[in-house]
Amino acid sequence: MFILSSPSGAGKTTIAKKLLAQVDGLGMSVSVTTRPIRPGEVEGKDYHFVDRDTFSQMVENGEFLEWAEVFGNCYGTPKAQIKAGLKAGQDYLFDIDWQGTQQLYQRMEVDVVRVFLLPPSIAELEDRLRSRGTDSDEVIRSRMDRAKAEISHWDGYDYVVINDDIESCYDSVLHILEAERLRRARQTGLVDFTRKLMA
Ligand code: 5GP
Repeated sequence: MFILSSPSGAGKTTIAKKLLAQVDGLGMSVSVTTRPIRPGEVEGKDYHFVDRDTFSQMVENGEFLEWAEVFGNCYGTPKAQIKAGLKAGQDYLFDIDWQGTQQLYQRMEVDVVRVFLLPPSIAELEDRLRSRGTDSDEVIRSRMDRAKAEISHWDGYDYVVINDDIESCYDSVLHILEAERLRRARQTGLVDFTRKLMA
């Protein structure tokens, strides 16, 4: 379970898309959310979009591995798909916030790798948010406040990567993933393999 968190505008989406396209055996965890769908988003690919009642029912039924309210909307990771995939040896990429990261870590510590991306500076983050489109100053200001609130949780992660260059940031994240896959505890079959080597 490979978690990528960051304030919005720090490059998380770009890095996540590239990882999914280039790394074998890595799937995206598609969250459930009560947030309204944005133009360009696809139901079932970006999120499963549900209303509040459905979300609450899913919480009550214990259908989430973790869930949290993030800036007024609810987001959760559905359990069923992830558990089945992990069992079959699939790795998952999670784009979740610090609250979900804490919950996942508490539940399944050994299987979780937590990576946090930071922008090189607040000015750069603001530039990136402004260059995205036509948001008003007020919207930008509120996004900056949210970004600062998210950044304050940087110390709850195993790895922190500063994204001052998207290519080298991607390389660093990829190296983290590759190294974590080589951890002895994650390599199934090593007992048999080394036994054969030593026979
Ligand atoms: P957005 O609405 O911009 O897609 O996402 C807002 C925030 O919610 C982001 O920080 C994203 O990482 C977080 N988020 C998305 N899905 C989940 C989830 O399933 N659980 C939690 N805890 N956070 C999520």
